[in-house]
Amino acid sequence: MKSERVPSRIYLSEREIPKKWYNVLADLKEKPLPPLDPQTHQPIAPEKLAAIFPNKVIEQEVSQEKFIKIPPEVLKIYLKWRPTPLVRAKGLEELLETPAHIYYKNESVSPSGSHKPNTAVAQAYYNKMEGVKRLATETGAGQWGSALAMACNYFGLGCKVFMVKSSFEQKPYRKAMMQLWGAEVTASPSEETTAGKGILADHPDSPGSLGIAISEAVEVAASDPETKYSLGSVLNHVLLHQTIIGEEALKQLERVDEFPDILIGCVGGGSNFGGFALPFIREKLEDNPRAKKMRIVAVEPSACPTMTKGVFTYDYGDTAGLTPLLSMHSLGHGFIPPAIHAGGLRYHGVAPLISTLINIGIIQPVAYSQNEVFDAALKFAKSEGIIPAPESSHAIRAAIDEALRAKSEGKKEVIAFNLSGHGHFDMSAYDDYLQGRLADSTINEEDLQRNLEQLRHQGVS
Ligand SMILES: *Cc1c(COP(=O)(O)O)cnc(C)c1O
Repeated sequence: MKSERVPSRIYLSEREIPKKWYNVLADLKEKPLPPLDPQTHQPIAPEKLAAIFPNKVIEQEVSQEKFIKIPPEVLKIYLKWRPTPLVRAKGLEELLETPAHIYYKNESVSPSGSHKPNTAVAQAYYNKMEGVKRLATETGAGQWGSALAMACNYFGLGCKVFMVKSSFEQKPYRKAMMQLWGAEVTASPSEETTAGKGILADHPDSPGSLGIAISEAVEVAASDPETKYSLGSVLNHVLLHQTIIGEEALKQLERVDEFPDILIGCVGGGSNFGGFALPFIREKLEDNPRAKKMRIVAVEPSACPTMTKGVFTYDYGDTAGLTPLLSMHSLGHGFIPPAIHAGGLRYHGVAPLISTLINIGIIQPVAYSQNEVFDAALKFAKSEGIIPAPESSHAIRAAIDEALRAKSEGKKEVIAFNLSGHGHFDMSAYDDYLQGRLADSTINEEDLQRNLEQLRHQGVS
């Protein structure tokens, strides 16, 4: 392959860090439907959210302002690892012998190993400013719990984490990481909450789910005036905080005079994908000619096919039905996905913003099975050296398939994906894969259909 004088890693200096988050709500003609009160099924009053969220966060959740200034205290912490590098995946290009240019934004360089601190730091800051003493949250694979534990530690806040039991058992080092930063970690479902006790009474061996853990954390926050709740994905303000990723990536690609033909990210609740893609989507919404043919691909596991098989309707964000009803693609709040290794992608719903963008045809969702994803992870680890998170490996799978398609069509396309995190705490999953023990956990189709049917008749739409 002809060598080109394109740098492998494109850095921005500290001074070039973007100073504003981008709020896509300002540019969307078709806005997501508002969240509904779980009791009255009417649009929820902001005061009701104040029991669990700080005012600034509620304000950002509904803001129509196009750009929102990043507080200097938050920027100061971002600068501990940001701007993150944008990397030209030359090793992967060579392995695939593709004419495509593949770039990845490396969010794995944060102290907790993923993109999640981008919002954790902002949320901890706003809570601290409003006199909150402790944050309660849930965590699936442990990435969000680690990020929030780290952020709370910076601002001297307490942190209570309900960790999905299957991950609690599979990932003892994630638990230790959270504890090291001062968090209190409990396996969910637990006996500490009404929601947890209810699940355990019916399913004593429940592996837990994000939906259940959210119920527990929300319950704790709602019943303690000094504790608020913090969510690591799905909501508008979380996607807003994550746009620092895409704002940096835009600048970095400009530096090498490139613009993506294909943009790719993995989706659990949609925050890393949204954070990466939304600034590029702005270019599309503003009819910028260079963004016209850009395709935007959102990747999920076929074991939790929210975007590709879910119903678009109002559903609860948690299992117990305590959260506001969100307008989104959902598999049903009672659906418990199989215990795949990409724990961060095991969520029954998705961000209302992402659902809206799917509905208006801007985002194209795809699903891959676990073994296809690990095959891609291995190719990436061998050619680029980084061991990716199983979640991020979904994006890698799609990037590889797009690069191979570009090769068969002889097209020199530009492919950019978000590497949402590293897989250093996922080595038992890699061990299983290497030993040929990794199952393609399929979903219980009957269970899924029952949940989808229930969702269609839930009576809120
Ligand atoms: C949490 C997590 C995800 C999924 O969450 P999103 O909100 O969809 O980004 C993806 N990758 C990694 C590494 C994560 O930690």
